[in-house]
Formats: sequence, C-alpha cells, structure tokens
Amino acid sequence: MTQHLEDGENTARPLPARRKAIVIGAGIGGLTAAVALRKAGLDVEVYERANELRAAGSGLSVMSNAITALRSLDLGIDLEKHGSPLESYHVRTATGRLIREFPFPEIIGRLGVPSVLITRSDLQNALLDAASGIPVTLGAQAERFETDEAGADGGVRVGFADGSEVRGDVLIGADGFNSVVRGQLAGPEASRDSGYICWLAVIPFSHPRFAPGSVTHYWGSGQRFGMVDMGDGRLYWWGTKNMPTEESHNWRGTKAEVERAYAGWADVVREAIRATPEEAILGVPSRDRVFLERWGKGPVTLLGDAAHPMLTSLGQGSCMAIEDAVVLGRQLAVPGTDVPTALRRYEDERRERTRAVVTASRSISTFEQSEDPIRRPVRDAYFRFLPKRRLTRTLENALTFPQ
Ligand SMILES: Cc1cc2nc3c(=O)[nH]c(=O)nc-3n(C[C@H](O)[C@H](O)[C@H](O)COP(=O)(O)OP(=O)(O)OC[C@H]3O[C@@H](n4cnc5c(N)ncnc54)[C@H](O)[C@@H]3O)c2cc1C
Repeated sequence: MTQHLEDGENTARPLPARRKAIVIGAGIGGLTAAVALRKAGLDVEVYERANELRAAGSGLSVMSNAITALRSLDLGIDLEKHGSPLESYHVRTATGRLIREFPFPEIIGRLGVPSVLITRSDLQNALLDAASGIPVTLGAQAERFETDEAGADGGVRVGFADGSEVRGDVLIGADGFNSVVRGQLAGPEASRDSGYICWLAVIPFSHPRFAPGSVTHYWGSGQRFGMVDMGDGRLYWWGTKNMPTEESHNWRGTKAEVERAYAGWADVVREAIRATPEEAILGVPSRDRVFLERWGKGPVTLLGDAAHPMLTSLGQGSCMAIEDAVVLGRQLAVPGTDVPTALRRYEDERRERTRAVVTASRSISTFEQSEDPIRRPVRDAYFRFLPKRRLTRTLENALTFPQ
C-alpha cells in the first residue's frame, strides 16, 4: 500500500534531470532523510516493512543538537508542542539521594535551542506531517539491492519480499539495527550484547517528586531506573537490569519480576512501576555493534541505527539519525556533485562524531551498570566530583550540531 501523504508540494512533474532517492525504513532516520532529500531537490520514495506506522510505546529525548538539525530543514513543526522541554536532569542513588544535578538547563539556555522529551509516536507523527506529499509504501520488505555499474551516476535497484522491484539514483538504508542494506554492504556481523535488559513503559502518572520537564536517573547495583516527563501528565520510565544474553533476548517476564527488581528503591520508582499495566511494559535487549568504518559504496549509503547502532546511555541514537539525515541532504544538494561523491562526503563528515558517541555510550553504559562493590562507589564519586567545567564542556559538545 502506498500512502501519498496529502500535500500539493510534490505534484509538479519531475524534470528529467531530477534524481530519485529510495529510502528503506520509515523510522525517525528514514522520515527525516526523506524530508532532507526532498529539500535537496531529489524525488523521494520511502519503503517500510511494517504494515502500519505505529511506534512502540516508549519515549525519547530529542536533544538540542537534533532540534538544531531539524530546524535547519524548515519543517514548520514545533516539537515542544508535542512533548515537554527538558528543564532539569538529576542522577540519584537507588534510594533517592542526589548524586549530581547535570547542568543541561544552563547549557540549553546558552545554546538557545531546547531539548525536548517526547513519545516515539508523537515524534513519528510530527515527522510524517513534515513528510507530507512523499510516497511511503507500507508492507514493503526490502531484501536486496543491485547497483548499475555504468558511470559515476549509475543507479540502483531494490528487490522486495513480494518480488517487486524499484529503481533509483540513490539508496539510503535507514532500516535500523538489523539493516538488510548494511548486511549486503558489510557481510554477516554479530551484534554486541551489553549484558542487560531494558524495560520500558509510557503511562499517565503524577507524583510530588515527578516534576514537569524532569529527567531523573536512579543508579543501583547492576540496575538503573529512569523517569522522564513526556508532557500532558505522561511518564516515560525505563529500567535496566544485568541479565545473561539468552534471557534478555527472550524476556517474557512479568510486572511482578520488575517490581521485585526495584524493591527497596525510592518511593517514586516503586509507585511508577505499580501504576503501570503489565501489558504496557516492553522488554528490549541492550545491544550495539562494532563501529563500521565504511557505510556505503557507489550510490548506496546507510543512516541512523543501520550505520551506527549504539547503546542508550547518552540518549543520542535518534538524534544522530536526525543529524545524519540533514548532513546527507546538504551533501546531495551541492551543485555539480555526482551521487557517489556526495555520499562519501556525507560518510566522511559523520564518521568521527558518530564513532565518538557509539564509543562513549558503551563505556558509560559499562560504568553505569556496574555491580562491582568497589567500582560502584567509584562511579558515584566520579560523577559527584567531576569538575563542572569539564562536565559542561562534554555535554555542550554533544548538544551542539556541528554545522
Ligand atoms: C530503550 C531505548 C531508549 C532509547 N532512547 C533514546 C533517546 O532518549 N534519545 C535518542 O535520540 N535515541 C534513543 N534511542 C535510540 C533510538 O531509538 C534509535 O537510535 C532510533 O530509533 C534509530 O532510528 P532509525 O530510523 O535509524 O531506525 P529505526 O527507528 O529502527 O527504524 C528503522 C525502520 O526500518 C524498518 N525496516 C527494517 N528493516 C526493513 C526492511 N528490510 N525493509 C523495509 N523496512 C525495514 C523498520 O520497520 C523501522 O520502521 C533509544 C533506543 C532504545 C532501544
């Protein structure tokens, strides 16, 4: 089924010289790429495996770097209206004692660009509105691609599970963690499990300790819990617990198991779990991949989790996908540049920043999940006493979209 999202913008007959981009995946990265490529003057078609676009029930922090990137696309969407602007960020012990208040509000104020806490579905809907007019074909599972070798601007054909095929001048693999486009480019790769599960839920919630615009992380031993305000009285919570790979990948546990894991934690944590219907709790394994140095070949490239899947500790996965999309659009908009050159320039521009975020996410995650009786107090003391100037510099660098 192809959804031609309403809008007159793309109805003009394309000029013969216009390039056509095929985007595989209608996640956050794919949809942002679609609008960025249209802005760059390409005709765009999006192909999505799912039969309906329905984001699973969890939340995201869309940090100032991603908001800056999105604003450069002039989408006319105001994410603050759909979510909650971040106003405070605290890290506490399992029982609620303050470890550190992170200076996000100060940095955000200085940058003059908000960071927004938003549900995945609200973000996806906002991006779908922005992508209005771009055809999005649902139920289209890409299986393989073939490039035409003739000339620098040779095209690419994509084959789908139902036997159909499409042809374009550019192929963007925005097909997430298990990307088939990446699989064909890079060959078989094992994922890297990080040794813990992540439970998630979005629920209506109120509590005196749950403030508007707040992010609060609670750190225990081999376990953490995060509470994030999504606006409109909605709480997004996530909990992690060290767990063998086999178990976390096939988790079919119960709410009682989650409640047991957080027995004795701060009252607000236990309240949040208690208020969550069992069926609202998702369990996802925490994993990434070894960083891939080459994301593309000829007219094919990768974007978002397909290119650089990362652990969640920095809350930057979708932010990096959004940044990727904007940089890709800019490179393809450079007049007189052939497609492979534009794609290699995009990959070169993104490699260092995304590698740094993947690496930092993994090392912070290992530190955060520690259950070692010596490392754990070291972890808390490190964050408590880390000089503010250093912390601010690191956070400000993450929150600044390199232009
Ligand atoms: C627990 C958790 C918490 C997170 N928190 C944050 C956060 O706070 N902030 C943040 O920025 N990031 C966060 N992330 C990371 C973020 O979710 C991802 O980085 C982001 O979703 C990546 O977007 P994407 O578009 O690259 O991939 P995806 O969102 O995975 O989208 C890929 C799309 O491709 C489709 N697809 C897959 N295969 C095919 C195929 N063969 N053919 C056609 N379509 C296909 C899929 O159905 C999907 O729609 C979190 C992740 C997790 C797991």
